[in-house]
Amino acid sequence: MPYWIAVDIGGTTLRAACFQDANTSPIAIRKLPTVQNRLDMLEQVTGLITSIWPAGERVEAIGVSAPGPVDPYSGTILWAPSIPEWVDYPLKQVLGDMFQTPTFVGNDANMAAFGEWKHGSGCRENDLIYLTISTGIGGGLIMNGQLLLGKQGLAGELGHTVVTPDGPLCSCGRRGHLEALASGPSIARWTETELERGAVSNLPKGVSLTSRQVAEAAVTGDPLARAAFERAGIYLGQAIANFINIFNPAMVILGGGVSLTGELLLSPIRSVLASQVYSHHFTDSLKLTTAALGDNAGLIGAWEFAKTIQMREIKNIDFPGD
Ligand SMILES: [Zn+2]
Repeated sequence: MPYWIAVDIGGTTLRAACFQDANTSPIAIRKLPTVQNRLDMLEQVTGLITSIWPAGERVEAIGVSAPGPVDPYSGTILWAPSIPEWVDYPLKQVLGDMFQTPTFVGNDANMAAFGEWKHGSGCRENDLIYLTISTGIGGGLIMNGQLLLGKQGLAGELGHTVVTPDGPLCSCGRRGHLEALASGPSIARWTETELERGAVSNLPKGVSLTSRQVAEAAVTGDPLARAAFERAGIYLGQAIANFINIFNPAMVILGGGVSLTGELLLSPIRSVLASQVYSHHFTDSLKLTTAALGDNAGLIGAWEFAKTIQMREIKNIDFPGD
């Protein structure tokens, strides 16, 4: 019964799991708060891998879900917003040498998309778009039954799609990106600004809000909080309408903390799609749904990703060939 190890390097939490055979319930799983500097991070990652390694057993491969732009072909983290010192960092090579085990590294949103496709909401579709909406907005695309990677493996940065050219500043330093208009912090920031302008709401003025607080207020019918999600949903809908025109998916899956608000976001997205998609043929049978794997999407995706690539390499098929 082969063993596999998966690691998910999140902005706030580091997770690792050991999977056996084809069972999606890991035989061991551990998590730690993320420490933000390279040596500590590597130490934490290797410590976590060691702690869940099955005693005395060989592990087939290690799969890693990592933040920021990642070159999955070489397993290099180009840069990571949450780990300033990991610039052009060859994580695949470092972990592969250390554990003498084949290692594969992919972008976190791509890995979550892969996990949702293999075992979550999208497991019967070969063409889907996954968007994770939380502190930032990430994306992953499964097209024709494959993870869409692109020339350098950087495809799927859906959160950095321009929605309003002169819009608010994005975390990447550019303006008007979807992430700057519909991520959790953007929803909270917009609500704070409207409160300062005198909008009617039960939310407290002059304090820093979270999108969760805004969501809770929206559920109780607070007009400003509802408007905040309506606005985010409209921007998401506009971006998703473009993605649908380009990729013609069967399904769009929304993951990440903000997607837990369900209909608060889905309802405005549906309205925008109905009016903005090029032809009703694109949306007639489109499934718009929320993710199923929660916090484990990255782990399950990294495990399946490692398994898929390794099987191709064993068969001498060039990654990412079909
Ligand atoms: Zn951006």
